Amino acid sequence: MTNLAETKHLLKDLVGFPSISGKPNKDIIEYISKYLAKFNVKTSIDAHHDGKRFNLLATIGPEKDGGVVLSSHLDVVPANPNLWLSDPFILREKKHRLIGRGALDMKGFLACTLAMTEKYKAIEEKLNKPIHFALTFDEEVGSFGAAQFGKFFDRLGFLPKIAIIGEPTGMEPFIGHKAIIELTSEITGSTGHASNTRGKVNAICVASKMITKIEEIAKTCSQKPEKNSSFEPPYSTFNIGKVNGGEARNIIPNFCNFLWEIRPVPSDDGQSLLKLINNWVEGSLLPDLQSIDPKANVKTTLLADVPGMEARPQSSAMRLIQRLWTNSAPRVVSFGTDGGYFQKYGIETIIFGPGKMSQMHQPEEYISEFEIEDCLKFLIKLGNYMISDEKF
Ligand SMILES: [Zn+2]
Repeated sequence: MTNLAETKHLLKDLVGFPSISGKPNKDIIEYISKYLAKFNVKTSIDAHHDGKRFNLLATIGPEKDGGVVLSSHLDVVPANPNLWLSDPFILREKKHRLIGRGALDMKGFLACTLAMTEKYKAIEEKLNKPIHFALTFDEEVGSFGAAQFGKFFDRLGFLPKIAIIGEPTGMEPFIGHKAIIELTSEITGSTGHASNTRGKVNAICVASKMITKIEEIAKTCSQKPEKNSSFEPPYSTFNIGKVNGGEARNIIPNFCNFLWEIRPVPSDDGQSLLKLINNWVEGSLLPDLQSIDPKANVKTTLLADVPGMEARPQSSAMRLIQRLWTNSAPRVVSFGTDGGYFQKYGIETIIFGPGKMSQMHQPEEYISEFEIEDCLKFLIKLGNYMISDEKF
C-alpha cells in the first residue's frame, strides 16, 4: 500500500511555502525538521554564510559511508500570478492533478520521500546501509546549496554511495547533463547628448560588439560537435538572456549590462571558452574604447559555475534503477541539476524522479496522483532492497 494521502497532505503544506530561490528558507526547513522529528529521525542543518538559507540532511539507518541519498531542492522558480488560474502557492486539485508552483519541480519528489519516513523508520533496525534525505537551497539559480554539500558531508563524516536526484524525468533514468557557467557583463560608457557623439563611448553599442563576438565563438563551437555525443545539441552553447541599458533615444547610454551563459559539453572546457571572450575584451575591445574615453570599462562577473554531470551508464546508481524499476536506456538531459556536484563529491549519481519534464517551470505546473503513486512504489521497492542481502 502506498501512502498517497499522506504524500498529498505533505505536498499541500510544502507548496504553501513560497520558497523562491534566493529567499530565506528557514520556515520550510523548520516544517520539515519538525515532521522528521515526529519519527525520531536524525537531522543535520548546514547554513549558507548569510545565515538565511539552509541545507538539511536526514539519516535513517547507521551514520556511516555507503547507502542511498534521495535528494530534492527546496527552492522553486518564481510564478507570475497573472498566468495562473489561482494562487500558485495554494495547492489545487483537479482531475487527479495537483497544481501549484513546485508541485512537480521538485516538491513532488520531496513529499514522496518524506511520506516514506514512517516506513523507512520501521525497517531501520534491519538497515546496514543508511537511507538519507538531502535537501538543498537555491538549485534553480546555480546549485548554491549543493555547492557546499561536500563540506557538509565532510563535517558529518560519511559519504553516501548513490544519489538519486528526484527531478521530474517521468521515472526514466538520466545520467548526465552539461555544465552551466552563468555570467553578467557590465559596460560603462560615456554620458552625453545624442547630438554630440565625438569622444563618447556608447555602452549599448559596446554590448552589441561583445554579443557579436560571443555569437562568433558560439558558431565555431557549433561547427565542432562532439562525436557520438548524446547531448542535443551535441556542442557547447551560449545564450544572451537579458539586456538592460539606456534611458532615452536622445541620450548616449553610459551603462548597459547583459546576462548570459555558457553550457559546455563535457569535452569542452567552459572556463577556456570564457577566457577566449575575456582575452578578446582585454586585448582588443577595451583598448579601443579607452582610446576614446579612458573611463570606459567592461566588467564580466561569474554568477555561478555549475559542474556538468558525466554520463556513466555502468554506474551502481544506474544498475540500481535497472534492478528496481526499468530497463530503459539511460539518457542525458539539457537542464542542470545538483547532480553534477554530488558526482564531483564521489557519489554515483542519477537523475530520476516523478512527473513530466515538459511541465517544469510552467504556469499551472502539476504532478498527477498516478505519478506520485509510481514514485511511492519505487521508494517502497528501494526500502525492501536496502534490507536485502543484495549488493549495489
Ligand atoms: Zn528542479
